[in-house]
Amino acid sequence: MLTLAAGFLGAAALTAAEIKNSDCLDCHSDKTLTSTNAAGVVRSMFADAAILAGSAHAKTTCASCHADLTSKHPDDNVAALPVNCSHCHEKESLSYGTSVHGVARVDHVRNGAHAAPQCMDCHGTHGILAAELPASPLHRSNLAKTCGQCHEQESRDVLESVHGKALAAGRRDAPTCSDCHSEHNIKALKNASSLAISQGTCGKCHASERLNTKYNLPPDRVKTFFASYHGLAAQYGSTRAANCGSCHGAHRIFPSTDPRSSIFVTNLSATCGKCHPGASANFAQGKIHIDVEAATAGGNLGERINWWVRKLYLGMIVTVIGLMAAHNAGIFLRKAAARARRGGPTVLRMDFSQRSQHFVLAFSFIILALTGFALKFPDSWIAVLLGSNEGIRRWGHRIAGVVLLVTGVYHIGYVLTTRQGRSLIKDMMPNAKDARDVAANARYLTGLAGTRPKFGRFGYAEKMEYWAVAWGTVIMGATGLMIWFKLGTTHWLPRWSIDVATTIHYYEAILACLAILVWHFYHVIFDPEVYPLNRACVDGRVPAEWYAEEHALDRRPGNGSPAQSKHMNSISMKRQNDNSSATTVPLTSFKPGNRAAWLIGGNAICDAVPATPQHLCRLVLLGAPGVGKGTQADLLHQWSGACHLSTGDIFRAAKSLPPAEVTPAMQNAIGFMKRGELVPDQTVLAIVTERVRCLRCGGGYLLDGFPRTVAQADALETLLKKENLPLTAVLDYDLPVDQIVERLAGRRVCSSCKGITHVSGKSAAPEVCPHCGGKLIQREDDRPEAVRVRMEAYHRSTSPLTEFYRQRGLLLTISAEGTPAEIFQRTKDALASRLQGKTAGTR
Ligand code: AMP
Repeated sequence: MLTLAAGFLGAAALTAAEIKNSDCLDCHSDKTLTSTNAAGVVRSMFADAAILAGSAHAKTTCASCHADLTSKHPDDNVAALPVNCSHCHEKESLSYGTSVHGVARVDHVRNGAHAAPQCMDCHGTHGILAAELPASPLHRSNLAKTCGQCHEQESRDVLESVHGKALAAGRRDAPTCSDCHSEHNIKALKNASSLAISQGTCGKCHASERLNTKYNLPPDRVKTFFASYHGLAAQYGSTRAANCGSCHGAHRIFPSTDPRSSIFVTNLSATCGKCHPGASANFAQGKIHIDVEAATAGGNLGERINWWVRKLYLGMIVTVIGLMAAHNAGIFLRKAAARARRGGPTVLRMDFSQRSQHFVLAFSFIILALTGFALKFPDSWIAVLLGSNEGIRRWGHRIAGVVLLVTGVYHIGYVLTTRQGRSLIKDMMPNAKDARDVAANARYLTGLAGTRPKFGRFGYAEKMEYWAVAWGTVIMGATGLMIWFKLGTTHWLPRWSIDVATTIHYYEAILACLAILVWHFYHVIFDPEVYPLNRACVDGRVPAEWYAEEHALDRRPGNGSPAQSKHMNSISMKRQNDNSSATTVPLTSFKPGNRAAWLIGGNAICDAVPATPQHLCRLVLLGAPGVGKGTQADLLHQWSGACHLSTGDIFRAAKSLPPAEVTPAMQNAIGFMKRGELVPDQTVLAIVTERVRCLRCGGGYLLDGFPRTVAQADALETLLKKENLPLTAVLDYDLPVDQIVERLAGRRVCSSCKGITHVSGKSAAPEVCPHCGGKLIQREDDRPEAVRVRMEAYHRSTSPLTEFYRQRGLLLTISAEGTPAEIFQRTKDALASRLQGKTAGTR
């Protein structure tokens, strides 16, 4: 049909200009002019020039509508085709084509199905008027009658209904046919979804505050419908759920007080019965529009009960769930704190400056995300939480944005001007190994490889994060400033650049937030090995064991990786101080096991973290050289798990460092030791304070050789008070000088393995080391005359110390006579009363 029409249009193009209205009216002004069609129906061919002149088409020529006719008409005896309005009214015509009328029309033309209206059936022919004119058949007041030409019953119903009455009363807002069914794209609402009818058709007016106020209608009909069972079902896609029309009717709508209404009290059973066969009057009594909030004391009994039940449940939910949450939050916090206390050795992952930068970045990011979301979705719950206040949203966002940018600039300064910053950026640089690691990890994660790659200070995941943050800050900062300073931006750039910046800003924000959730939060929170939080952002430290596993290849001087000492035969351990000065110490210098943190200091990690101790011992051991203090310390360590911390061992360990790696202070201390003098208090205290984490160790500690002076004891007391790590006792091993002299006279040191052996002074056997066969030698200061001098010196310096601890009730004097086992039994007996109830975790 369209092709035909197009053909006629093409032909008409030649003739339309030539045929004047006067040519047509020559014949068609004759009132008696008729034609008879093929069916024998006689039709008037009269065209009233006056009507044409008063119509909306007054300025349109006859030939422009009857474009199929040529100047040969009527001699060619070809009847005029129906006028094709789409020539000028294309949009309306397309809408009509998809409407029920248009579809039925095609069916009619093609298949002879029953007639369907076309344009002129509603709009008229020569006398077409604009729909706003009261004389138009499409005017609001006439439309029901016009539609009633075909839809008689519906038209009668509408005119009789509350809507029809309002229309008749001249209420401009009253709905007519086209308000519900649309104009050209007319739809039958019979099979429309419940949601479409309730929301899109009836809801259009009944949810309008303006109309409800104006016509004194209940303000909440649509809201309360959607809160009802029917409304909820409709929202969740039910096609069978009752909609407004199911109960109120479609065209015959009356107020509920009107006996003709389908919701008049006596008609309710029948209305409900349409969907609920057998619905009784009692069943039909229930409220359909449920407004629990409004159903207060003023409602009927059912409503009041319902109101109270609801209040009761809300209160119960808040209380029960609130208490549950508080209870579990308490457990969580307790457990997290206990876990943090149990701790074990840690290494420094983020220094103070890095932590501060991370904190400001995280804080500003969270504010940006919240306020940004609220700006984009002003009706969302986040916006409500922010007080639904545009000023707070906008300025909160801008201030946080500025803070983020300033942090970014500070960070650039940090990486350019500080040693730690330069080291950080160097280690953050992506390299070929990262690409290999990604591939290797992919193989591991998919089960193609049995081991996962080892990472250095930063793995590819951390590098990706770091550079994504850098990139995101630049992008968000640039686009954010463009949006903020729109006027200035459009001074230089086209207006559309703001739209592009807004789009980038929005999607980059989504990308960043999701990346933080999925990537960063996994690594720092949800990873089972760090859950509930990787504490590096709080105190900068991470568990040494975890670090060894995750960053085994961190070879930075000063950032000790125990994995290296554990898994590599290079037999070296590293240490790190917070200032990153570092050194490598031959592992052979130390007993493998649990004292690396004490002996090396800095961030060195003990291979074996003490297990939860049976008896939490925090002891100071006193005793002259040769009383067997070292042996007792070993036994106490095995018995309680407490770590043997000897200050003398620190200095001896430092002696085996390569000269370049010995700090001047330590070099000085070694000098004192070599001369047999005491190291100055300040140096010793600095060294102990630096190793304070050993005192915090969950296994307890056995301080041996420290304190040596009252000044040291004072300082230790202050430190332990501050750390809340009170001493359990001070063990003073006592042995007569003669026996000490005798014992030390038999003490030998292996010149090869440095092991200690005791020999009988009377033995004539050659003195060889029982462990390695090396030559045994006697230390100069173990000779009897030297021992007596040492004893005197010892008693001189120690007696004020024993007095110091006696006054505090901490001193336990233990006889060091007899075998090590006997002495140890005495030690345990002496400690028994002090240890009652003191187990792991007791402070
Ligand atoms: P020791 O093994 O405890 O006899 O200590 C060996 C050497 O280290 C001593 O002779 C001192 O030079 C030095 N030293 C160890 N601990 C201390 C301390 N608390 N105060 C001063 N010097 C110490």
